[in-house]
Amino acid sequence: MTLERRLREMIVSGGPLPVSVYMQLCLHDPEAGYYSTQPGLGRDFITAPGLSQVFGELLGLWAVHEWQVMGRPDPFILAELGPGRATMMNDALRAVRVHTDFLTAMRLHLVEASARLREIQALRLATYRPAFADELASLPDAPMICLANEFLDCLPARQFVELDGQWHERVVGLDAQGRFRLGLAVDMVPGAELQASAGRQVRELDLQPGLEIVISALAQRAGPFRALFIDYGSLTPPGDTLRAFRENVQVDPLEQPGTCDLTVDVDFGRLRRLAEKAGLGVDGPALQGPFLGGLGIQQRLDQLIAGQDKQAEVIFKAVSRLVDPGEMGERFKVICLSSPGLPGATGFAMNRLKGEAK
Ligand code: SAH
Repeated sequence: MTLERRLREMIVSGGPLPVSVYMQLCLHDPEAGYYSTQPGLGRDFITAPGLSQVFGELLGLWAVHEWQVMGRPDPFILAELGPGRATMMNDALRAVRVHTDFLTAMRLHLVEASARLREIQALRLATYRPAFADELASLPDAPMICLANEFLDCLPARQFVELDGQWHERVVGLDAQGRFRLGLAVDMVPGAELQASAGRQVRELDLQPGLEIVISALAQRAGPFRALFIDYGSLTPPGDTLRAFRENVQVDPLEQPGTCDLTVDVDFGRLRRLAEKAGLGVDGPALQGPFLGGLGIQQRLDQLIAGQDKQAEVIFKAVSRLVDPGEMGERFKVICLSSPGLPGATGFAMNRLKGEAK
């Protein structure tokens, strides 16, 4: 049975689904979810590592530096959450190959939900004999450096809407013609009718329960760690940010469930608050552009284009997209969460966002 039909039957028998449940099934249903069956990284959407090798290289060098700050633990875990096609980790590990002490101490652990992507990662990172895990919480207790690019935005979001002074959960239901429709649950009881919001006073809030799960997994770790998250999002609470992408075009998230990537903006303000409350060290959020600038992206670009004729323009344009304020430089944020007691992480000192409380 297609995912579309199963979703329809779930709604008919159990009532409208929270957006988070819809998102989870569309992305990870074992038989028909987007990441389980046809993850179209590079085809449906492009990420920083796919634009330029410089991105992964700089993060690799960042990891070595932070490992040194941590006192060069041996062994230590280098983890990545949602490595996709393993491009970033490949670039990172190639860039640090002279640091043989780092590579010798490193145990590579990949947290990946998609069996299809695991195959690609296992192949492309075979030299480093990666171990796979289903979730961050199941990584062994040892000192850890963790990297995650465009991982948090896939964590399903519940959406809430304040309508004329009352908060409702946005749910996926069926209209009279049997088509999927977004509406508001009249109350939190499954099966509640959908309510239209057209023309009314609304405030909206997208909330990812997965952020709490990430923070609690980190807070429970025994050894020292740093976890660097890069994603798009804002410092203020996001609202109504669910988007779908197929072949690099934004499409209707309710059409052909399971065939496109679904994503929401990450609430970096909330992530920071949750981390501080859990007693973790927090650097950032910073803007991606200045962060990569602080790690030396200009110098790496100069090296790469030196002596290049035809390729120089292509390389320059790709790297510019990573840092330009109008492209990924401002929309993408970087935050580093650390175990208590570690000094501030590299790349954040000169990089406070305007309007930040501290
Ligand atoms: N980091 C890569 C890929 C980003 S796409 C890049 O920057 O190109 C998101 C990645 O996260 C995919 O590898 C996807 O399969 C994985 N993923 C999404 N949700 C996940 C979850 N809940 N647990 C583990 N991996 C997940």
